[in-house]
Amino acid sequence: MFIAHLPAGYLLAQHLLKRICTIPVSPKAVLFTVMVGAIAPDLDMLYFYFIDHRQTHHHKYFSHWPSLWIGLLCTSMLATGLTRKQSLPFLTLIFSLGGLLHMLLD
Ligand SMILES: [Zn+2]
Repeated sequence: MFIAHLPAGYLLAQHLLKRICTIPVSPKAVLFTVMVGAIAPDLDMLYFYFIDHRQTHHHKYFSHWPSLWIGLLCTSMLATGLTRKQSLPFLTLIFSLGGLLHMLLD
């Protein structure tokens, strides 16, 4: 869970920082956003334990649907290309990359 996905998000952020030449936000923002994206799908554990009372495995919730993260990635890629102020679409893009990494590791 968090123990596995946080370091994976950190490694992805470090990789992105080495590979991307110009980023519209600070390296700390990249690190924070990717790591939050890498654990974001598991925030459904709150619902799993406190509301659903462990009736449905949390991997069946929409936050664990790869289509959600792929859709968010595609939308943010389009927005990054269409807008002049690119920090928010860029942050959304790297957030969704963290979420997709989570899907791969799950
Ligand atoms: Zn998960």
